[in-house]
Amino acid sequence: MTELAGLTFPLILAAPSGAGKTTIARELRERRGDVVFSVSATTRSPRPGERDGVDYHFVDAAEFRRMIGAGELIEWAEVHGNLYGTPLRNVHDAVARREYLLLDIDVQGARQLRGKLPQAVFVFVLPPSGLVLSERLAGRGSEEVEVRRRRLANARDEIREAAYFDYAIVNDHLAHAVDEVERILLAETRRVSRIPGLEAGIARMCGEIDGYLGTSQGQHG
Ligand code: ADP
Ligand code: 5GP
Repeated sequence: MTELAGLTFPLILAAPSGAGKTTIARELRERRGDVVFSVSATTRSPRPGERDGVDYHFVDAAEFRRMIGAGELIEWAEVHGNLYGTPLRNVHDAVARREYLLLDIDVQGARQLRGKLPQAVFVFVLPPSGLVLSERLAGRGSEEVEVRRRRLANARDEIREAAYFDYAIVNDHLAHAVDEVERILLAETRRVSRIPGLEAGIARMCGEIDGYLGTSQGQHG
């Protein structure tokens, strides 16, 4: 038993808008080839540089409703006036490929997944402070002032949910925050309940030790 091969699992990153979870998710994916980004469906319009099928599946409201009706979304929520949802297929595909599925979703979606994905790990990303959060949202420059104000008001309510997650990290220095998420991932791969071959491996190892004890007893006893 030189290698402990565990089951992969979804890693859920939730945070108020602007805390940096997309940036962290991107960095983590760069570091690890076995981490894949869960591409959500959304009715929001693409921002400059965003690509359909890569950043999001950009769909209209009718298509989104069809996906809900067809049971294609494992969770969905209205966030800042747009609809967002995670295709169930993303979860199945990641399991089949033995990959860690990284979900960048809001707290309403995370709450829905608590019951549906008991194997998932829930990480909340906090900004260093409320002031820094407002500066990051302004710095991203992707929204109008009114939209930004709405996002900040939502952020205040979402931060209160952090206490219900498995882990909470502060995104102060980016590399440090990514290190922390990676360490959480590593620790969770070593959770005994995720290692299906552990009992058999232990039994084999005990057998080897018994064999050795029997032999050495024969030699020295
Ligand atoms: P979210 O996905 O949570 O809405 P983003 O990842 O888009 O947030 O980050 C919001 C803004 O903050 C972006 O402009 C990003 O470059 C910046 N940012 C993210 N993490 C950090 C950090 N640790 N230090 C400074 N700026 C950051
Ligand atoms: P943005 O428009 O900035 O890309 O995302 C806005 C918010 O929607 C973020 O908090 C993001 O995590 C969340 N979001 C993105 N995809 C999903 C999803 O599939 N489900 C849910 N519930 N939220 C999502």
